[in-house]
Amino acid sequence: MIKINNIHAKIGDNSILKGVDLALEAGKVHVIMGPNGAGKSTLTKAIVGHYDVEVTDGQIMYKGKDILQLPPEERALEGIFLSFQNPVEVPGVNNAYFLRMALNAKEKYHEQKETNAAEFLKLMRKNAEQLGMNTEMIGRGLNDGFSGGEKKRNEILQMEILQPDVIILDEIDSGLDIDALKAVSEGINRMKDGKRTFLIITHYRRILDYIHPDYIHVLQDGKIVKTGGPELVEVLESQGYQTVQKDT
Ligand code: ADP
Ligand code: MG
Repeated sequence: MIKINNIHAKIGDNSILKGVDLALEAGKVHVIMGPNGAGKSTLTKAIVGHYDVEVTDGQIMYKGKDILQLPPEERALEGIFLSFQNPVEVPGVNNAYFLRMALNAKEKYHEQKETNAAEFLKLMRKNAEQLGMNTEMIGRGLNDGFSGGEKKRNEILQMEILQPDVIILDEIDSGLDIDALKAVSEGINRMKDGKRTFLIITHYRRILDYIHPDYIHVLQDGKIVKTGGPELVEVLESQGYQTVQKDT
């Protein structure tokens, strides 16, 4: 689904990604783990085209195209979704309105009928309830004054409404209480359809017990140093990142 070849990237003058190779398969759940500052968030930003990150070498192939040539909005319209580690608050931009505009933009791009306001409200209510969100949050400013857990649920709400093909979640589980973790995990599981690809960044095993990943990759010092199955999580937990046997 996505093929990342030898990506080098920097933020300002700092070289962060130093040759990342990663193939994300259709229908699979890929997980990236790795120490703080390894470059995990930088990799997600390189994929979506975030302005912080300058890709200096390599390719990211998606649907037969090198998407590094595309502006971020087009990558999103083509079906790539990223939930940021720290979702930004945008007071004054209504949460529901923002999400409907995003959905309508995607529908227009794909020459589909646009969801109207009434249909959208119904859809949003249904999804928000499933996620255990207070429906009052729908009408507030985007993430405005939301708690950490509310922001993460709101990200999952966006994901469920936009129905992306590639779902990248950067520490969606950090700081969640037990109920929120369950609601978020169930949202992720609802999106599994055998075709969508997931790239999930986490430090914790708890979410992995819910979502059953196919592959675990370890990112360390700007490179993928190890790939394995779910059993790798236990090895990492017992040995830590420094002593784990590297592939390369
Ligand atoms: P991870 O997500 O693996 O913890 P990041 O990709 O966020 O790591 O960060 C990798 C490195 O890039 C860190 O050393 C971090 O301090 C640095 N970095 C990230 N964002 C910025 C920024 N906007 N300006 C300067 N340095 C940054
Ligand atoms: Mg990060």
